[in-house]
Amino acid sequence: MKNPETEAPLPSRRAVLAGAAVAGALASPMARGAPGGGTTAAGRTDEYDAIVVGAGFAGLTAARELKQHGYKTLVLEARDRVGGRTYTAEFNGKPHDLGGTWVHWFQPHVWAEISRYGVEIEESPGNFADDVIYLDEEGRRHQAKMSERGAEFYGPIQAMFADAREIMPRPAEPFVDRRWVEADTISVADKIAATQHTPESRILAATMFTANSGGASKNVSWVDIVRLVALSGYSLELESDVVSRFKIKGGMRSLYTALEKDCGATIKLDNRVAVIETTASGVRVIGADGEVYSAKAAISTVPLNALKDVKFSPPLPREKLKVSMEGHAGKANKIHILIEGERPIFTAWAPGTGPSPINHIFWDGAANGHTHLIAFGSGDNPIQVMDREAVEKAVRQFLPDAKVVAVKAHDWNNDPYSKGAWCISRPGQISNALRDLQAPHGRVFFASGDWASAWRSAIDGAIEQGIVTSRNVHRLLSRP
Ligand SMILES: Cc1cc2nc3c(=O)[nH]c(=O)nc-3n(C[C@H](O)[C@H](O)[C@H](O)COP(=O)(O)OP(=O)(O)OC[C@H]3O[C@@H](n4cnc5c(N)ncnc54)[C@H](O)[C@@H]3O)c2cc1C
Repeated sequence: MKNPETEAPLPSRRAVLAGAAVAGALASPMARGAPGGGTTAAGRTDEYDAIVVGAGFAGLTAARELKQHGYKTLVLEARDRVGGRTYTAEFNGKPHDLGGTWVHWFQPHVWAEISRYGVEIEESPGNFADDVIYLDEEGRRHQAKMSERGAEFYGPIQAMFADAREIMPRPAEPFVDRRWVEADTISVADKIAATQHTPESRILAATMFTANSGGASKNVSWVDIVRLVALSGYSLELESDVVSRFKIKGGMRSLYTALEKDCGATIKLDNRVAVIETTASGVRVIGADGEVYSAKAAISTVPLNALKDVKFSPPLPREKLKVSMEGHAGKANKIHILIEGERPIFTAWAPGTGPSPINHIFWDGAANGHTHLIAFGSGDNPIQVMDREAVEKAVRQFLPDAKVVAVKAHDWNNDPYSKGAWCISRPGQISNALRDLQAPHGRVFFASGDWASAWRSAIDGAIEQGIVTSRNVHRLLSRP
């Protein structure tokens, strides 16, 4: 059977010319006033074959793939670093990931890159500790051993996925079977309410799906959670491994710098793109500083929630922009926390519907008189992620005597170049818009982990999209 996703329609010559007419009419004052010393002269289309906007995994992969075809590529990145929503920084004398972290061999695109660049994997066992501390809906603290009481917590949750294979028989090929689109009508909160739970499994469900999504359960599509389990061989246990057991030694930096070195493109940092225009023979990409760059085609990897901040000419179709205007539901906060004392391994849960701004916190190592914890919460119940005192107050709900020594985080929700964390759909949102989000516009192609066909919301999905769109650019540029 044909996979429609791999055969995205190329813009027709008529559409490209129509785009050029509008682009000419709308030529921005910034373009006209571009400083003469720019990298390229405004209107020239022969300087670059392709311009990639954004140097996260989607953008760096696209640039690397374009190099394989011999194209001259420019990457324009708004931030002062590459990596996008993956970001390895030093904390407590070691590299730690403030964004995307966990990878798995069930994620074929990222695993191929791990093999290609020879980076090493290490296990992070904290999420799988036997000793669990959990808060109930009222914030009262309890403890349990999963080896003794696992069935009470996990049994009813496993049953929530009983129809996963029926809803999503081909989870990596979203256009082959539409049952998942038709089923995408309820939220995680609706599904929890409709399930017969034990008190413990209700708490775990309200914890796990908030931590999985970073969004309040009433805002998150149930089917988008089913997708993660379907992609993990329909196994909830395996899904936990995929999203939180194995990470890259030295942090994601080991992988994104390998990709950066290999991509063969000119990368310009601190270059926010303000306008992307399709012209008669190519594209003009205009920086916020007025600099104009020209090429035969462009790939935008601007994340879904930030796409509305770039001006397109001709304007993006309503269906493509609508989801960016609404915003996806993924608002996770991730915080690295160092506390005094060396504690044994544990994991802790608090339901997203309860008072705690931290829903999941787990041990990530203990040495030199300190314990390192990783915490997740939802931006729908916000916490100042870099405020040591606020974080200590939240941690003490789980560990009443904890003394927080240091915290480290990046505020993805208030970063203008992400405006959210990993992408999680609202009910009926991305399922209905996926084709529009993936579609090209004039000579501009769109790659993002946020609208990947399979591992949307993950590094794997970003790499998938970099591969697919660069191939579509090659099809356009090699067309006789
Ligand atoms: C806290 C957190 C934890 C996560 N955990 C995991 C995990 O454990 N495992 C996993 O697989 N995934 C995880 N993810 C998701 C994963 O990091 C992302 O899905 C993936 O990195 C997205 O890659 P991308 O290239 O599509 O987008 P991005 O990485 O966001 O790259 C887009 C790039 O475009 C740039 N940009 C934006 N606007 C402009 C503009 N106007 N002009 C120029 N450049 C612009 C941005 O600065 C950015 O560099 C996590 C994400 C977060 C935030």
